[in-house]
Order: sequence, then C-alpha cells, then structure tokens
Amino acid sequence: MRDPARGTETVALLVTRACQLDCVYCRFRRYKPAMDEALLRRCADLALEAESPECALVFLGGEPLLRLDQVLETMDYASARRAAEFPGKTLAFSVTTNGLLLDDAALDALGERGASIQLSLDGSRQEAQRPLKAAGKAYPSAALDAAFARLVRRKIPFAVHSVVSPEGVGSLFEDALDYLERGAPQVHFQYRVGVEWPREAGLAYAREIARVAEEARRRGLALSAKELMDSNEPAIVSPSVTVDVDGLAYLGCTVPAMEEILPALKTSNLLGDARRLGLRELMAAAAGAEARALDAHRGDARGERIVRSNIEMGRLCLEAEAALRRRFSSGAAV
Ligand code: SF4
Repeated sequence: MRDPARGTETVALLVTRACQLDCVYCRFRRYKPAMDEALLRRCADLALEAESPECALVFLGGEPLLRLDQVLETMDYASARRAAEFPGKTLAFSVTTNGLLLDDAALDALGERGASIQLSLDGSRQEAQRPLKAAGKAYPSAALDAAFARLVRRKIPFAVHSVVSPEGVGSLFEDALDYLERGAPQVHFQYRVGVEWPREAGLAYAREIARVAEEARRRGLALSAKELMDSNEPAIVSPSVTVDVDGLAYLGCTVPAMEEILPALKTSNLLGDARRLGLRELMAAAAGAEARALDAHRGDARGERIVRSNIEMGRLCLEAEAALRRRFSSGAAV
C-alpha cells in the first residue's frame, strides 16, 4: 500500500498466527502454519518492487518474535536485495510485539537491522485492560514491564501502540502520560475496530489525543503528529496490504482484528494472492472497498452499524490528525 501521509509503500506480514498468550478480546484464529521462507521473501519483494522510493515491511502476528529467526532472515534478505538492486530506495522495518520476548539478544539483533519496535500496550494496567481467557491466569505484566524498562534503558526508539475502546477513552490521557513518564519516546493510538463507536465517544477520543499532544509539547517532548494517529483511515477498509500466513492479501486490519467479528469482510476486503500479484495489482482491487464492506453486511443490522460507525471514526480521525498537523504547523513535531 502507499501510505498517503508518508509516501511509503508498506507491506504488513502476518508472520505467524501463534501467540504465547490468549487474551479475552483476541479475535484472531490460530489455525494455520506460520509463513514459510518463500512467502516471507515474496512479501519483501512486493515492497521493494513497488514504485515508491520509500518502502517498509511491518512484521505482525500473533506474536512475530516467536519466529524471530525468520523475521531477521527476511530483513537480511530485503536489505541485501535493496543494496544490490534498489540502491536509491529507503527500506524500513517495524515489528509489532507483545514485548514478552524482547530480551537483550532480540533487541541487539533487531537494533543491528534498524528495526523500530511497536510495543503493544492497551493501558497502564494491562492485566485489567487485557485479561486472559484462562480463569485465574494473570497477564504477565512483570515481563512486559521489564521489556518496557529494557527499551528505555537501552535508549531504543520505540512506540507504545495502544488500542483504545469506547469505554477506555476516559483513561487514554492518563495512560499516555504514564507511558511517557516511564520513558516511551512515542505513543501511537488506534481506536478499536469492530465495535460501535457512538459519535460522542469518537469526538472524545480525538479530543483526548489532542490533549496528550498538547501536554507532551508543554513538557518539551517531541511527539510526532503523524505517529500519534494513523493516516490509513478508515482502518476497517484501510488502503494498506496485509499478507496472511497463506499468502492471501487483505485490506488493512481485516485479518488481524476483524475475521471473527465481521467475517464477511474477509470476502469484501480480499485483494488477491500475494504470491502471484504485485502491489499495484493488489491495490487495484481496493477500489470501492467502503461500498463493498457495507454491501457485505446488508441484512446484518449489527454488522452494518459497526461498519458505518467505523467508517465514520476513520473520517473523524483523519480530520483530527489534519487539525493536529495544522495546529502544530509542521506536522513533523508537535
Ligand atoms: S491480543 Fe495480541 S498478545 Fe493477546 S493473544 Fe491476541 S495476538 Fe496474543
């Protein structure tokens, strides 16, 4: 996909559907094997062969660090190919992780390859905000806190990636300040897709993020407006390519977040087979995605309400992000 705000061709890879946790709200099926080497390399080729002078690979899961060796091998393959065949291109790597496997060795290996880390954290009380399915089993918060502290201690540029539910908007500001006070250099918010967002809750979400930006600025922290909120909105039909473990490519968050909540999106948001098609051909199938998503839910009142509400949230967030950029005039730092 081409990120309109960043001018970067980005391919997100669902490296594996496996995860060492089983969070209550996780709507992610665990039934397929992980990506094989040929598919991982194919995803790298997709990004490199796209037209933009900038490209990026985003490693997602499940938990991608369960396959750290394969992730590193793919980065090395992509870097070698970029140097040999696309010397004028920039290539960025990002890994979104639950943090539990971020030990020093993993950080060394990722750091050597210039990968940025997105630490998935849904509030300063993760064990309450992200309970596990197994009764009596608590979220391994101590391991997560240790990973957070390790990132800060080692001065590794990372972002806290925080998914916010309508009922969590009230603690967004305090949670963000907690991350920043603990040393996170950046926070990134994503409203939860697949749930209904009353308009008031959506407006409050945008207001609270603007408050975080203001407060960070007051404290002399250089948060980047383009990182605080996504530019690929509406997320439910996000103009971005995510390749599943079987090689099928979907729009944005269809697979990682939505496949059990709104299964019809797996048809309406399907772009094609990434093993055979290039990025341009895949994205050609994205045209009309909003209308298709709505059509796919005709007769399903709840599904249609969620899709409409999420499309509306996307518009609202785009306006809010633009307002943030204007307010801080450059968009490079708020
Ligand atoms: S929400 Fe993330 S950390 Fe929790 S089980 Fe799902 S993939 Fe794993």
